[in-house]
Amino acid sequence: MNVAKDLVVSFEYTLTNDAGEVLDKSDPGSPMAYLHGHHNIVPGLEKAMDGKTVDDAFVADVTPEDGYGPKKTDSTQVLPLDAFGETAPEVGAQYATRTEEGNLMPLWVTAVDEKGITITFDHPLAGETLHFDVKITGIREASAEEVAHGHPHGPGGHHH
Ligand code: ZN
Repeated sequence: MNVAKDLVVSFEYTLTNDAGEVLDKSDPGSPMAYLHGHHNIVPGLEKAMDGKTVDDAFVADVTPEDGYGPKKTDSTQVLPLDAFGETAPEVGAQYATRTEEGNLMPLWVTAVDEKGITITFDHPLAGETLHFDVKITGIREASAEEVAHGHPHGPGGHHH
């Protein structure tokens, strides 16, 4: 079986940046699962997965455009300290705001100080070229429910 749309793919990975720093990795023995063709993972990695099979190991180099997007220089805003309620959020916390069109837009807290709460709409990995060291550990058919939800259930996937 080869990776294709509507298949659930399990894989182990180590994610490094251009400097070779490890940004993220799967826990040993617990691969991540995603539903191919449903934007569960960044476009560049999904493209690299296409057609691969179990036990394939490879490195996918992903540009910011195919990753978490370029950095937007105008994306920082400073909000009043009580903007999130009585308790100020932690640096690094992720929230979402609803746009005028009604879409959810993620935002991240980058600083909390006397000036207020600084937020950005850039993903923490925006602007980074990403290197995914991948090993595919499993490929299976998705259930109708998983396809309808747009994500896999069970180990490495979503739990409701
Ligand atoms: Zn679901």
